[in-house]
Amino acid sequence: MAYKFIDNYREQGARKRLVDVLRKNGIEDEQVLKAIGKVPRHYFFDETFWNQAYKDIAFPIGAGQTISQPYTVAYQTELLHIKKGDKVLEIGTGCGYQTCILMELGAQVVTIERQEKLYERTIQVLPYMGYKPTFFLGDGSIGRAEHSPYDKIIVTAGAPTVPDVLLKQLNIGGILVIPVGDEQSQKMVTVLKTGEHDYERHVLDTFRFVPLVGDRAW
Ligand code: SAM
Repeated sequence: MAYKFIDNYREQGARKRLVDVLRKNGIEDEQVLKAIGKVPRHYFFDETFWNQAYKDIAFPIGAGQTISQPYTVAYQTELLHIKKGDKVLEIGTGCGYQTCILMELGAQVVTIERQEKLYERTIQVLPYMGYKPTFFLGDGSIGRAEHSPYDKIIVTAGAPTVPDVLLKQLNIGGILVIPVGDEQSQKMVTVLKTGEHDYERHVLDTFRFVPLVGDRAW
């Protein structure tokens, strides 16, 4: 395999500094910060760009997609309140960095990606790094009913609305975190399922994600 996995003092030091930046910028959950401090983000970059891996920026990963900004990954993860053993559906695997963070927190992850090139790379890289989620290639905007219900659902691409079908796949007490808006900017939305047909919805900060493309999306 052509991937290079070396985690030396330079990358480890840069990762510690990234954690400090995220803490300074408002991420408070120490478990989330610990996970960011553990997962080698440079493994998702070509070696030429390792010097970019611990900057708090999104970065192209091919197929017109990006690895999310670390702040965004930490922000969405914090909102999920992951508990050990939570069953989490992730829509938009991308390179798999967010998947690793969820798994560091003890989640069992079912993850869906629609771009074949990214899917093919991720199913090789993540198990090699020691992370073994359940991978699917396809349209995540309809969720994955056969593995439901989920304790948490995270969508890592911008949607025009909250797909009802995802709410149906949540456990009572479960949380959905999804960016909702137009193609320019989205508000982070959290939905807590309080009863079979009852939901508590909160609209939070503004972000800019690549679009969620699919049957219940763009
Ligand atoms: N989670 C990634 C990370 O750790 O950095 C970033 C994901 S990237 C911002 C969003 C991903 O969502 C892209 O890889 C894109 O192909 C994928 N995507 C868009 N629409 C999708 C859909 N309907 N189902 C599954 N994946 C989708």
